[in-house]
Formats: sequence, structure tokens, C-alpha cells
Amino acid sequence: MATFKAWVVEKGEGGQSLAFKDFDEADLMDGDVTVRVTHSGLNYKDGLAMTGRMPVVRRFPMIPGIDFAGVVERSEHPDYKSGDAVVLTGWGVGETHLGAYAERARVKGDWLVPLPEGLSPAQAMAIGTAGYTAMLCVIALEAHGLSPEAGPAVVSGAAGGVGSVGVSLLARAGWHVLAVTGRGDEAEYLKGLGAAEILDRAELAADPKPLAKERWAAGLDTVGSKPLANLLAMTKAGGGIAACGNAAGMDLPSSVAPFILRGVSLFGINSVTTPQGPRRAAWARLARDLDLDALARMTTTVGLEEVGRLGETILGGKVRGRTVVAIA
Ligand code: NDP
Repeated sequence: MATFKAWVVEKGEGGQSLAFKDFDEADLMDGDVTVRVTHSGLNYKDGLAMTGRMPVVRRFPMIPGIDFAGVVERSEHPDYKSGDAVVLTGWGVGETHLGAYAERARVKGDWLVPLPEGLSPAQAMAIGTAGYTAMLCVIALEAHGLSPEAGPAVVSGAAGGVGSVGVSLLARAGWHVLAVTGRGDEAEYLKGLGAAEILDRAELAADPKPLAKERWAAGLDTVGSKPLANLLAMTKAGGGIAACGNAAGMDLPSSVAPFILRGVSLFGINSVTTPQGPRRAAWARLARDLDLDALARMTTTVGLEEVGRLGETILGGKVRGRTVVAIA
């Protein structure tokens, strides 16, 4: 019986539990590509899955981990053969389909992308779902015609994973970046990634007014709730905010005022089911445009056996930048 090491979430009468154990390869779910996972990442959603804080796990037992890089071991998919380096983000992996915190994964080949040229597997997972989502946000803002000439760009949850990559990408593209953080002691870190100004998270936590003084032309929001409503109220006429996260809450206590009186736009970003075309385009942009030195500065690496204790840490907003899980 072939087994491999994996983190496994199980549900019993006492609720959800998480354990590091041997997993039987025969119990992997259906898929036409089997991958030897070499790296994964730690994302906010992985924290939710490992702790059970929100019901993101929809099937038990579940191997958590929503993204991986690895090497194809066996493939019945026409686009992939044994030895190919691949990357996966999203598609319900780590939620409804057995995930990445394991030495093996079996998935649909249609979910994979080839490892982007110019990136190592470790760098691809330093970017991970978080960085790829930040790229989708930037692309959405650009598609609306927004550019640095329009005014500053604001990034909330800036010291987190999506935020850190977002700050770096926007700064490198020439934007004057305002980084919103609750961690004043990360100011130097954020400036090192290219932030021009640091804003205290508390400034955006107040009950939002329908409109407030115009401060930025573009925004990348990872937190939702009142901070997003305040970002919208402070967006310049014709500007836009790309919203991808809910670290502050699922609600959006806003009004239509920014939309109808200033022509502000709100772009929703869902990285999970992005089709192959835009998915590969975003990865190609990341390989081309992301400052790999900045990526290294925002990245911490842990072993597979360590990731199980980091669920509460990321949900507590205590993880700086990105965490790579080195598996093999
Ligand atoms: P991180 O935990 O790394 O970053 C979140 C950051 O948000 C924290 O570091 C903190 O930044 C800030 N934050 C945390 N709690 C609060 C709070 N109560 N109020 C205001 N700010 C807070 O997570 P990720 O970067 O991995 O993910 C960020 C968000 O984006 C999550 O909600 C995640 O689910 C979502 N996401 C969505 C995707 C999609 O496809 N739509 C894909 C990937 C992520 P600081 O200390 O600097 O203030």
C-alpha cells in the first residue's frame, strides 16, 4: 500500500480536527494528472480550512492547501506528461478536492498551468494564490483604463500576502502606492516593497460616509467591510477599486453615492475559477513584471510538518507577506 505524508482535516462529533499523518494514495480523488507536490503556500483560506473558522472545507476527510507547484508523475491528460513542472491555484482544491499540504495530489489537468518560464517552483508558490490574485486585481484596474497618471493607488491589508504582492506590483508599474496596515512596525518592510506612504488601518475603520475627500484613483482591497466602503467613498471621480478579500468582514456597508456621483467602479476578483486564458496571462505578467528580489524579501519558508500550526497565525493577521511550504 503506497502512502504519503499529508495534513488531514476530519470531522467528528467533537467538531473539526487536523492531523499530520500517512495518507493512502488509493484514497486520492479522481483526476487525470498525479503530481509530486514540491511546494505549497499559506493563504488566508488555508487558515479558515485548517481551523474550521469558516466552513470552506466541504468534504471530509480533506487535505487542506489551495495551491501547489510540483512535478507530474503520471498523466492521462494530453497537455501534460511525466516530468512536467506545473502550478495549481484554486478550483476548490483544499476545499472540495483533496489539496496541497501533502506529498502527492491528483487533479484535473484542465486546472493546471505549466510552471511559468523564469520562475522556480518555490518562487511560483511564494507568489501563490495570493500573488496571482493581486495580479488579477492590477489587470482589472488597468483594463478600466486606470494608470499612475490618474492619481495614487491604495492597497489594504498591505502587509499580508495579497497586499504585499499588490504593493510591489503597483509600485513597479509606477503608481504612488499608499499602503494601509494595522501593523505600524511593518512600515519599513512596506516601503522596501515600494510603498510611498503608510496609512493606519484605523483611518479606514470608522463608519463610512457616502462620500469623503477624494484621495486615490485606484485601489486593491483585501479586507472588505467598512474599510472597503471607506476606500470607495474616498476614490477619485472615474477611479476604481478591485475587491478580492474579506479579512475585515463579508459585509459592505456602503451606498451607491461613489458609483452614481463620481462614476467610481468596483471590480470583483475571483481567482478560483478564472479561465485558462486570463489565468495564464496573469502568470506570464507575474513572471515578467514582479520584482523577484522584493518577492524574496516578503517570503518566509516553512516545512510541511510546520504548516498545521499556522492557521490561527494567518487568521490573526500576524503573517508578514508570503509563506512558502517546502514539501520535497
Ligand atoms: P493575509 O492574512 O496574508 O492578509 C490579510 C491582511 O489583512 C492581514 O495581513 C492584515 O494586514 C489585514 N487584516 C487582517 N485582519 C483585518 C481586520 N480585521 N481589519 C482590517 N485588516 C485586517 O491573507 P491573504 O493575503 O492570503 O488574503 C487576503 C484576503 O484576500 C483574504 O480575505 C482572502 O480570503 C482573500 N483572497 C481572495 C481571493 C479571491 O480569489 N478573491 C484569492 C486570495 C485571497 P495588515 O496587518 O497590513 O493590516
